[in-house]
Amino acid sequence: MDQGQALLDALGEWEGFEVTGVERREGDPDEIHVSLKPREGVPLYCNCCGRACERVHEHVQRTVRDLPLFDAITYLEITIYRVWCEHCGGPKRMRIDWLADQQRVTNRLAESVIYLCSQLSIQHVAKFYRLHWHTVKRIDKRALKARLDPADFSDVRVIGMDEFALHKGHRYATVVVDPIRKRVLWVGPGRDRAAVRKFFEQLGPEQCERIEAAVMDMHPAFTLEVEKHCPNARIVYDLFHVIAKYSREVVDRVRVDQANALRHDKAARKVVKASKWLLLRSPRNTSRAQRVRLQELFDANTPLMIAYMLREDLKALWSHRDPDEARGFWEEWYQRAMESGVAAIRRFAERIKAFVPGILAHAEFPLHTSLIEGINNKIKVIKRMAYGFRDDEYFFLKIRAAYPGNAR
Ligand SMILES: [Zn+2]
Repeated sequence: MDQGQALLDALGEWEGFEVTGVERREGDPDEIHVSLKPREGVPLYCNCCGRACERVHEHVQRTVRDLPLFDAITYLEITIYRVWCEHCGGPKRMRIDWLADQQRVTNRLAESVIYLCSQLSIQHVAKFYRLHWHTVKRIDKRALKARLDPADFSDVRVIGMDEFALHKGHRYATVVVDPIRKRVLWVGPGRDRAAVRKFFEQLGPEQCERIEAAVMDMHPAFTLEVEKHCPNARIVYDLFHVIAKYSREVVDRVRVDQANALRHDKAARKVVKASKWLLLRSPRNTSRAQRVRLQELFDANTPLMIAYMLREDLKALWSHRDPDEARGFWEEWYQRAMESGVAAIRRFAERIKAFVPGILAHAEFPLHTSLIEGINNKIKVIKRMAYGFRDDEYFFLKIRAAYPGNAR
Protein backbone atom coordinates (compact mmCIF):
# COMPACT_ATOMS: atom_id res chain seq x y z
CA MET A 1 0.00 0.00 0.00
CA ASP A 2 1.35 3.44 -0.77
CA GLN A 3 2.16 5.74 2.14
CA GLY A 4 -0.43 8.32 1.13
CA GLN A 5 -3.23 5.79 1.37
CA ALA A 6 -1.80 4.50 4.66
CA LEU A 7 -1.96 8.01 6.11
CA LEU A 8 -5.50 8.44 4.85
CA ASP A 9 -6.55 5.14 6.43
CA ALA A 10 -4.93 6.18 9.70
CA LEU A 11 -6.82 9.51 9.63
CA GLY A 12 -10.11 7.69 9.35
CA GLU A 13 -10.64 8.26 5.60
CA TRP A 14 -14.06 8.72 3.98
CA GLU A 15 -15.55 5.29 3.54
CA GLY A 16 -16.70 4.44 0.02
CA PHE A 17 -14.99 7.55 -1.44
CA GLU A 18 -11.67 8.25 -3.02
CA VAL A 19 -9.62 11.43 -2.97
CA THR A 20 -9.37 13.11 -6.35
CA GLY A 21 -7.60 16.24 -5.24
CA VAL A 22 -6.20 18.12 -2.24
CA GLU A 23 -5.59 21.83 -2.13
CA ARG A 24 -4.22 23.98 0.66
CA ARG A 25 -5.33 27.60 0.60
CA GLU A 26 -3.42 30.09 2.67
CA GLY A 27 -5.31 32.29 5.04
CA ASP A 28 -5.89 32.86 8.72
CA PRO A 29 -6.11 30.00 9.29
CA ASP A 30 -5.31 27.96 6.23
CA GLU A 31 -7.99 25.88 4.56
CA ILE A 32 -7.63 22.40 3.15
CA HIS A 33 -10.05 21.44 0.40
CA VAL A 34 -10.33 17.71 -0.24
CA SER A 35 -12.16 16.58 -3.36
CA LEU A 36 -13.94 13.25 -3.11
CA LYS A 37 -15.95 11.01 -5.39
CA PRO A 38 -17.58 7.62 -4.86
CA ARG A 39 -15.12 4.76 -5.29
CA GLU A 40 -15.53 2.78 -8.48
CA GLY A 41 -17.67 -0.34 -8.03
CA VAL A 42 -18.75 0.46 -4.46
CA PRO A 43 -22.31 -0.80 -3.79
CA LEU A 44 -24.92 1.97 -3.74
CA TYR A 45 -27.84 2.15 -1.33
CA CYS A 46 -30.85 4.41 -1.06
CA ASN A 47 -30.52 6.81 1.87
CA CYS A 48 -34.28 6.63 2.43
CA CYS A 49 -35.08 2.93 2.55
CA GLY A 50 -31.57 1.45 2.68
CA ARG A 51 -32.14 -0.86 -0.27
CA ALA A 52 -29.44 -1.52 -2.88
CA CYS A 53 -29.76 0.52 -6.06
CA GLU A 54 -28.21 -0.13 -9.45
CA ARG A 55 -28.74 3.09 -11.35
CA VAL A 56 -27.10 6.47 -10.81
CA HIS A 57 -29.64 9.17 -11.63
CA GLU A 58 -27.41 12.22 -11.38
CA HIS A 59 -24.29 13.67 -9.74
CA VAL A 60 -24.48 16.59 -7.32
CA GLN A 61 -21.72 18.63 -5.69
CA ARG A 62 -21.73 19.34 -1.95
CA THR A 63 -19.31 21.21 0.25
CA VAL A 64 -19.23 20.04 3.85
CA ARG A 65 -17.00 20.64 6.84
CA ASP A 66 -14.98 17.88 8.44
CA LEU A 67 -12.82 17.90 11.58
CA PRO A 68 -9.79 20.16 11.06
CA LEU A 69 -6.73 18.51 9.59
CA PHE A 70 -3.94 19.67 11.89
CA ASP A 71 -3.95 23.49 11.72
CA ALA A 72 -6.34 23.90 8.79
CA ILE A 73 -10.09 24.24 8.46
CA THR A 74 -11.08 21.29 6.33
CA TYR A 75 -13.66 21.35 3.57
CA LEU A 76 -14.78 18.34 1.60
CA GLU A 77 -15.85 19.00 -1.98
CA ILE A 78 -17.90 15.88 -2.56
CA THR A 79 -19.46 14.42 -5.65
CA ILE A 80 -22.57 12.67 -4.41
CA TYR A 81 -24.78 10.39 -6.46
CA ARG A 82 -28.49 10.53 -6.50
CA VAL A 83 -29.53 6.98 -7.17
CA TRP A 84 -32.73 5.72 -8.74
CA CYS A 85 -34.55 3.75 -6.07
CA GLU A 86 -37.14 1.29 -7.40
CA HIS A 87 -38.65 0.88 -3.96
CA CYS A 88 -39.03 4.59 -3.21
CA GLY A 89 -39.93 5.18 -6.84
CA GLY A 90 -37.59 8.03 -7.65
CA PRO A 91 -34.19 9.64 -7.26
CA LYS A 92 -32.78 9.56 -3.73
CA ARG A 93 -29.46 10.51 -2.22
CA MET A 94 -26.99 7.64 -1.91
CA ARG A 95 -26.36 6.49 1.64
CA ILE A 96 -23.08 7.79 3.12
CA ASP A 97 -22.27 6.33 6.51
CA TRP A 98 -20.23 9.32 7.64
CA LEU A 99 -22.54 12.09 6.41
CA ALA A 100 -26.19 12.43 7.42
CA ASP A 101 -28.69 13.75 4.91
CA GLN A 102 -29.06 17.54 4.73
CA GLN A 103 -26.02 18.05 6.97
CA ARG A 104 -23.23 20.43 6.18
CA VAL A 105 -20.81 18.79 8.59
CA THR A 106 -19.57 15.20 8.76
CA ASN A 107 -20.87 12.94 11.52
CA ARG A 108 -17.56 12.99 13.36
CA LEU A 109 -17.47 16.80 13.40
CA ALA A 110 -21.11 16.83 14.57
CA GLU A 111 -20.31 14.38 17.38
CA SER A 112 -17.42 16.50 18.51
CA VAL A 113 -19.59 19.63 18.46
CA ILE A 114 -22.31 17.85 20.45
CA TYR A 115 -19.82 16.73 23.08
CA LEU A 116 -18.29 20.20 23.41
CA CYS A 117 -21.76 21.75 23.65
CA SER A 118 -22.36 19.68 26.79
CA GLN A 119 -19.31 21.34 28.36
CA LEU A 120 -18.98 24.80 26.83
CA SER A 121 -21.07 27.69 25.60
CA ILE A 122 -22.19 27.75 21.96
CA GLN A 123 -19.98 30.79 21.42
CA HIS A 124 -16.91 28.89 22.56
CA VAL A 125 -17.67 25.85 20.43
CA ALA A 126 -18.38 28.01 17.39
CA LYS A 127 -15.14 29.88 17.87
CA PHE A 128 -13.14 26.71 18.44
CA TYR A 129 -14.27 25.07 15.20
CA ARG A 130 -14.81 28.33 13.30
CA LEU A 131 -18.40 27.41 12.64
CA HIS A 132 -21.35 29.78 12.67
CA TRP A 133 -23.19 30.14 15.98
CA HIS A 134 -26.42 28.95 14.33
CA THR A 135 -24.73 25.91 12.83
CA VAL A 136 -23.46 24.82 16.23
CA LYS A 137 -26.85 25.36 17.81
CA ARG A 138 -28.64 23.48 15.04
CA ILE A 139 -26.32 20.47 15.41
CA ASP A 140 -26.72 20.37 19.18
CA LYS A 141 -30.48 20.91 19.10
CA ARG A 142 -31.03 18.17 16.57
CA ALA A 143 -28.97 15.72 18.64
CA LEU A 144 -30.80 16.61 21.86
CA LYS A 145 -34.18 16.12 20.21
CA ALA A 146 -33.16 12.74 18.83
CA ARG A 147 -31.93 11.68 22.27
CA LEU A 148 -34.73 13.05 24.47
CA ASP A 149 -37.88 12.73 22.37
CA PRO A 150 -40.24 11.06 22.62
CA ALA A 151 -39.78 10.90 26.38
CA ASP A 152 -40.60 7.67 28.20
CA PHE A 153 -42.65 8.34 31.33
CA SER A 154 -43.61 4.73 32.05
CA ASP A 155 -41.68 4.46 35.34
CA VAL A 156 -42.75 7.82 36.79
CA ARG A 157 -44.76 7.51 40.04
CA VAL A 158 -43.94 10.79 41.75
CA ILE A 159 -43.63 14.26 40.27
CA GLY A 160 -42.33 17.58 41.52
CA MET A 161 -43.43 20.87 39.99
CA ASP A 162 -41.98 24.34 40.15
CA GLU A 163 -41.63 27.49 38.13
CA PHE A 164 -38.66 29.60 37.10
CA ALA A 165 -38.23 33.00 35.51
CA LEU A 166 -37.47 33.36 31.81
CA HIS A 167 -36.07 36.56 30.37
CA LYS A 168 -35.19 38.52 33.49
CA GLY A 169 -38.40 37.69 35.30
CA HIS A 170 -40.83 38.94 32.70
CA ARG A 171 -42.13 35.50 31.82
CA TYR A 172 -42.22 32.18 33.58
CA ALA A 173 -41.77 28.56 32.68
CA THR A 174 -42.81 25.40 34.50
CA VAL A 175 -40.51 22.48 35.19
CA VAL A 176 -41.73 19.00 36.13
CA VAL A 177 -39.27 16.54 37.64
CA ASP A 178 -39.10 12.99 38.91
CA PRO A 179 -37.55 13.75 42.32
CA ILE A 180 -36.70 10.10 42.96
CA ARG A 181 -34.63 9.59 39.84
CA LYS A 182 -33.51 13.22 39.64
CA ARG A 183 -34.80 13.57 36.14
CA VAL A 184 -36.33 16.59 34.44
CA LEU A 185 -39.43 15.20 32.75
CA TRP A 186 -40.81 18.26 31.10
CA VAL A 187 -40.25 21.99 30.71
CA GLY A 188 -42.81 24.33 29.18
CA PRO A 189 -43.50 28.03 28.88
CA GLY A 190 -45.98 29.63 31.27
CA ARG A 191 -47.20 28.66 34.73
CA ASP A 192 -50.97 28.91 34.52
CA ARG A 193 -53.35 25.96 34.30
CA ALA A 194 -53.37 25.83 30.49
CA ALA A 195 -49.57 25.83 30.43
CA VAL A 196 -49.23 23.05 33.00
CA ARG A 197 -51.99 20.98 31.39
CA LYS A 198 -49.74 20.29 28.40
CA PHE A 199 -47.57 18.10 30.59
CA PHE A 200 -50.49 15.95 31.71
CA GLU A 201 -51.72 15.65 28.14
CA GLN A 202 -48.32 14.38 27.11
CA LEU A 203 -48.30 12.01 30.07
CA GLY A 204 -51.62 10.53 28.95
CA PRO A 205 -54.55 9.31 31.08
CA GLU A 206 -53.13 5.86 31.80
CA GLN A 207 -49.82 7.18 33.08
CA CYS A 208 -51.61 9.97 34.97
CA GLU A 209 -53.45 7.29 36.96
CA ARG A 210 -50.15 5.81 38.09
CA ILE A 211 -48.95 9.05 39.68
CA GLU A 212 -48.98 8.55 43.47
CA ALA A 213 -47.78 11.93 44.70
CA ALA A 214 -47.01 15.40 43.43
CA VAL A 215 -44.82 17.75 45.43
CA MET A 216 -45.10 21.49 44.75
CA ASP A 217 -45.45 24.93 46.20
CA MET A 218 -48.91 26.28 47.03
CA HIS A 219 -49.49 27.55 43.51
CA PRO A 220 -53.18 26.84 42.75
CA ALA A 221 -52.64 26.10 39.04
CA PHE A 222 -50.41 23.15 39.93
CA THR A 223 -52.79 21.80 42.57
CA LEU A 224 -55.89 22.09 40.40
CA GLU A 225 -54.30 20.44 37.37
CA VAL A 226 -52.93 17.52 39.40
CA GLU A 227 -56.34 17.03 40.99
CA LYS A 228 -57.99 17.14 37.60
CA HIS A 229 -55.69 14.70 35.78
CA CYS A 230 -54.20 12.40 38.41
CA PRO A 231 -57.01 10.76 40.42
CA ASN A 232 -54.60 8.77 42.62
CA ALA A 233 -52.05 11.48 43.36
CA ARG A 234 -51.59 12.97 46.80
CA ILE A 235 -50.67 16.63 46.80
CA VAL A 236 -47.60 17.29 48.95
CA TYR A 237 -46.66 20.86 49.84
CA ASP A 238 -43.02 21.47 50.18
CA LEU A 239 -41.40 22.73 53.39
CA PHE A 240 -39.23 25.22 51.59
CA HIS A 241 -42.16 27.06 50.03
CA VAL A 242 -44.36 27.03 53.14
CA ILE A 243 -41.52 28.43 55.23
CA ALA A 244 -40.69 31.00 52.55
CA LYS A 245 -44.33 32.10 52.61
CA TYR A 246 -44.23 32.38 56.40
CA SER A 247 -41.02 34.40 56.24
CA ARG A 248 -42.57 36.79 53.74
CA GLU A 249 -46.00 37.13 55.25
CA VAL A 250 -45.18 36.94 58.94
CA VAL A 251 -41.54 37.60 59.84
CA ASP A 252 -41.12 40.40 57.33
CA ARG A 253 -44.51 41.91 58.12
CA VAL A 254 -43.83 41.96 61.86
CA ARG A 255 -40.37 43.42 61.28
CA VAL A 256 -41.77 46.29 59.21
CA ASP A 257 -44.57 46.91 61.72
CA GLN A 258 -42.10 46.96 64.60
CA ALA A 259 -39.84 49.37 62.72
CA ASN A 260 -42.76 51.66 61.96
CA ALA A 261 -43.77 51.65 65.61
CA LEU A 262 -40.29 52.95 66.47
CA ARG A 263 -40.64 56.20 64.54
CA HIS A 264 -39.64 58.20 67.60
CA ASP A 265 -36.45 56.17 68.21
CA LYS A 266 -34.32 56.41 65.09
CA ALA A 267 -31.45 54.22 66.35
CA ALA A 268 -33.72 51.35 67.44
CA ARG A 269 -35.71 51.65 64.21
CA LYS A 270 -32.55 51.28 62.17
CA VAL A 271 -31.57 48.12 64.03
CA VAL A 272 -34.95 46.52 63.36
CA LYS A 273 -35.00 47.57 59.72
CA ALA A 274 -31.51 46.19 59.13
CA SER A 275 -32.35 42.78 60.56
CA LYS A 276 -34.15 41.41 57.49
CA TRP A 277 -31.52 38.89 56.41
CA LEU A 278 -30.55 37.96 59.92
CA LEU A 279 -34.17 36.98 60.58
CA LEU A 280 -34.40 34.96 57.40
CA ARG A 281 -31.40 32.86 58.32
CA SER A 282 -31.89 29.48 59.86
CA PRO A 283 -30.46 29.32 63.43
CA ARG A 284 -28.13 26.59 62.19
CA ASN A 285 -26.44 29.07 59.85
CA THR A 286 -26.22 31.83 62.45
CA SER A 287 -22.85 32.78 63.92
CA ARG A 288 -22.27 33.53 67.60
CA ALA A 289 -22.10 37.27 66.90
CA GLN A 290 -25.33 37.08 64.92
CA ARG A 291 -27.01 35.20 67.77
CA VAL A 292 -26.06 38.01 70.14
CA ARG A 293 -27.60 40.54 67.75
CA LEU A 294 -30.73 38.44 67.47
CA GLN A 295 -31.05 38.21 71.23
CA GLU A 296 -30.77 41.98 71.58
CA LEU A 297 -33.36 42.42 68.89
CA PHE A 298 -35.73 39.97 70.57
CA ASP A 299 -35.27 41.56 74.01
CA ALA A 300 -36.66 44.79 72.62
CA ASN A 301 -39.23 43.30 70.19
CA THR A 302 -41.24 40.42 71.61
CA PRO A 303 -43.56 39.96 68.59
CA LEU A 304 -40.52 39.52 66.38
CA MET A 305 -39.20 36.83 68.70
CA ILE A 306 -42.54 35.01 68.70
CA ALA A 307 -42.71 35.14 64.88
CA TYR A 308 -39.17 33.78 64.60
CA MET A 309 -39.68 31.00 67.14
CA LEU A 310 -42.94 29.83 65.63
CA ARG A 311 -41.27 29.56 62.24
CA GLU A 312 -38.52 27.35 63.62
CA ASP A 313 -41.16 25.22 65.36
CA LEU A 314 -43.20 24.93 62.19
CA LYS A 315 -40.21 23.44 60.39
CA ALA A 316 -40.32 20.48 62.77
CA LEU A 317 -43.65 19.50 61.20
CA TRP A 318 -41.76 18.06 58.23
CA SER A 319 -39.75 15.72 60.44
CA HIS A 320 -42.80 13.62 61.33
CA ARG A 321 -43.32 10.33 59.53
CA ASP A 322 -46.50 9.33 61.31
CA PRO A 323 -49.59 11.07 59.90
CA ASP A 324 -51.38 11.17 63.30
CA GLU A 325 -48.36 12.63 65.02
CA ALA A 326 -47.99 15.19 62.25
CA ARG A 327 -51.63 16.17 62.66
CA GLY A 328 -51.24 16.44 66.44
CA PHE A 329 -48.18 18.61 65.98
CA TRP A 330 -50.02 20.88 63.51
CA GLU A 331 -53.01 21.33 65.82
CA GLU A 332 -50.74 22.29 68.66
CA TRP A 333 -48.85 24.74 66.45
CA TYR A 334 -52.10 26.24 65.19
CA GLN A 335 -53.30 26.74 68.77
CA ARG A 336 -50.09 28.54 69.68
CA ALA A 337 -50.29 30.67 66.54
CA MET A 338 -53.84 31.74 67.43
CA GLU A 339 -52.78 32.54 70.99
CA SER A 340 -49.61 34.36 69.96
CA GLY A 341 -51.23 37.78 70.13
CA VAL A 342 -49.56 38.66 66.82
CA ALA A 343 -52.08 39.44 64.07
CA ALA A 344 -49.80 38.47 61.18
CA ILE A 345 -49.24 35.01 62.68
CA ARG A 346 -52.97 34.47 63.21
CA ARG A 347 -53.70 35.53 59.65
CA PHE A 348 -51.07 33.15 58.30
CA ALA A 349 -52.41 30.23 60.36
CA GLU A 350 -55.93 30.87 59.06
CA ARG A 351 -54.79 31.17 55.46
CA ILE A 352 -52.65 28.06 55.57
CA LYS A 353 -55.49 25.92 56.96
CA ALA A 354 -56.77 25.08 53.47
CA PHE A 355 -53.36 23.65 52.59
CA VAL A 356 -53.00 21.49 55.70
CA PRO A 357 -53.85 18.13 54.03
CA GLY A 358 -51.05 18.74 51.54
CA ILE A 359 -48.66 19.83 54.27
CA LEU A 360 -49.44 16.77 56.40
CA ALA A 361 -49.13 14.48 53.36
CA HIS A 362 -45.41 14.99 53.73
CA ALA A 363 -45.47 12.50 56.64
CA GLU A 364 -46.41 9.74 54.19
CA PHE A 365 -44.56 11.10 51.16
CA PRO A 366 -41.38 12.64 52.53
CA LEU A 367 -40.61 14.55 49.35
CA HIS A 368 -39.27 18.00 48.86
CA THR A 369 -38.44 20.26 45.98
CA SER A 370 -34.81 20.82 46.92
CA LEU A 371 -33.88 19.06 43.69
CA ILE A 372 -35.81 21.77 41.88
CA GLU A 373 -33.95 24.46 43.81
CA GLY A 374 -30.73 22.88 42.54
CA ILE A 375 -32.16 22.73 39.04
CA ASN A 376 -33.05 26.41 39.26
CA ASN A 377 -29.41 27.24 39.89
CA LYS A 378 -28.30 25.06 37.02
CA ILE A 379 -30.89 26.69 34.76
CA LYS A 380 -29.16 30.03 35.33
CA VAL A 381 -25.87 28.52 34.18
CA ILE A 382 -27.49 26.92 31.11
CA LYS A 383 -29.11 30.22 30.26
CA ARG A 384 -25.72 31.90 30.17
CA MET A 385 -24.10 29.08 28.20
CA ALA A 386 -26.68 28.12 25.63
CA TYR A 387 -29.32 30.73 25.56
CA GLY A 388 -29.30 34.39 24.74
CA PHE A 389 -30.89 33.91 21.33
CA ARG A 390 -34.37 33.33 22.65
CA ASP A 391 -34.97 29.81 21.45
CA ASP A 392 -37.10 28.43 24.29
CA GLU A 393 -37.30 24.99 22.74
CA TYR A 394 -33.53 24.63 22.67
CA PHE A 395 -33.20 26.07 26.16
CA PHE A 396 -35.71 23.56 27.52
CA LEU A 397 -33.95 20.67 25.80
CA LYS A 398 -30.69 21.73 27.45
CA ILE A 399 -32.38 21.70 30.87
CA ARG A 400 -33.76 18.20 30.28
CA ALA A 401 -30.40 16.98 29.02
CA ALA A 402 -28.69 18.26 32.18
CA TYR A 403 -30.96 16.00 34.31
CA PRO A 404 -31.39 12.74 32.40
CA GLY A 405 -32.13 10.79 35.61
CA ASN A 406 -30.27 8.17 37.60
CA ALA A 407 -30.70 4.52 36.73
CA ARG A 408 -33.12 2.72 39.02
ZN1 LIG B 1 -35.38 3.83 -1.37
